[in-house]
Amino acid sequence: MTIQWFPGHMAKARREITEKLKLIDVVFELVDARVPLASRNPMIDEITAGKPRLLLLNKADMADPEVTRLWVEYFQGKGLPVLVLNSKTGQGINKIEAAAKELVKEKFDKMKAKGIIKPRAVRALILGIPNVGKSTLINRMAGKNIAVTGDKPGVTKKQQWIKVGSSLELLDTPGILWPKFEDQSIGLKLAVTGAIKETLLDFSEIVLFALNYYKDHYPERLQERYNLEEIPEEAIQLFDAIGKKRGCLMSGGLIDYEKTAEIVLRDIRAEKLGRLSYERPVQV
Ligand code: GDP
Repeated sequence: MTIQWFPGHMAKARREITEKLKLIDVVFELVDARVPLASRNPMIDEITAGKPRLLLLNKADMADPEVTRLWVEYFQGKGLPVLVLNSKTGQGINKIEAAAKELVKEKFDKMKAKGIIKPRAVRALILGIPNVGKSTLINRMAGKNIAVTGDKPGVTKKQQWIKVGSSLELLDTPGILWPKFEDQSIGLKLAVTGAIKETLLDFSEIVLFALNYYKDHYPERLQERYNLEEIPEEAIQLFDAIGKKRGCLMSGGLIDYEKTAEIVLRDIRAEKLGRLSYERPVQV
C-alpha cells in the first residue's frame, strides 16, 4: 500500500512516534542502503531529538558493496553509529543488540550508580519510511511473523515488546515516517528502488533517470547487459540503443519507448544489472 502523505498524515505520524519514543531508549533508523539520503526523513534529527540512534542500512544485498562501504565511513565520520543489513536473510542483525547496548551504556551506568533503575533490557523502536523493510526486520528479529508487512498508519493495536537476545526489547510496531519530497530526483530514486509506486511517476522518466545514472557510474554493466559496443553521451540515445537491441520498434522503425522502459525496469527489479546504488557520499 502506498501512502499519500498530506500534512495531516505527517502530523499524526509524528504524534504516534512521539508517544512511542516515551517508551524506548534507542531508535533504530532504517534506510535503504542504495539511497540512504533519499530514504531518510528530513526531520529525523528533530523528531528523535535526545534519543540515541543507530542507523541501519537495509537492503544492502541489492546495493553496490563498495558504495555501501563509503556510506558506512561517511555516517561514522558524522558520529552516527551504523550497521549494514539484509533483513530478508537476517544478515547483519546479530550485531544490533551489542550496538544498542553500547549506545545506552553511559546512561544506564549512571542510572544504576544512582540506584534509579535495576538492570533491564534496552528498549528500542524501529523508524523508517514505507517499504524500507521495517516489518521484515521486526519479523526477523522476532524469529517469527508478527509484524504485518505493509504500512497502515493509524491502525492501532496493543503494542508489545519482542525480546531479542538477553538484553534487547523491540517494540513490535514500527514508527512510520514520510520520505523527503523536496526535489524530483528524490522521488525518482525512491521509485527506481521500489519505495514508491512507479505508477505515481512517468515510467519512462524513471528509466531515463536510472539510465543516466548508470551511464555515469555503471557503464560496463549496461554494455554487458544490452550488448552495446559503446555508451552514447546522452541517456536518451542510450534509450534508443537499448530499444533497438531489444527489438522494441514500432511501425516506421521508431523506438517504442514505453516497451523499452518496461524491459529496463523489469531488469532493474530482477537485479539483472547487478547490485546498484543510486547515491554516493559527496567527496569533499
Ligand atoms: P515496511 O513497509 O518498511 O514494513 O517494509 P516491508 O518489511 O514490508 O518490506 C518492503 C519490501 O522490501 C518487501 O518486499 C520485503 O521483502 C523487501 N525487503 C525488506 N528488507 C529487505 C532486504 O534487506 N533485502 C531485500 N532484498 N529485500 C528486502
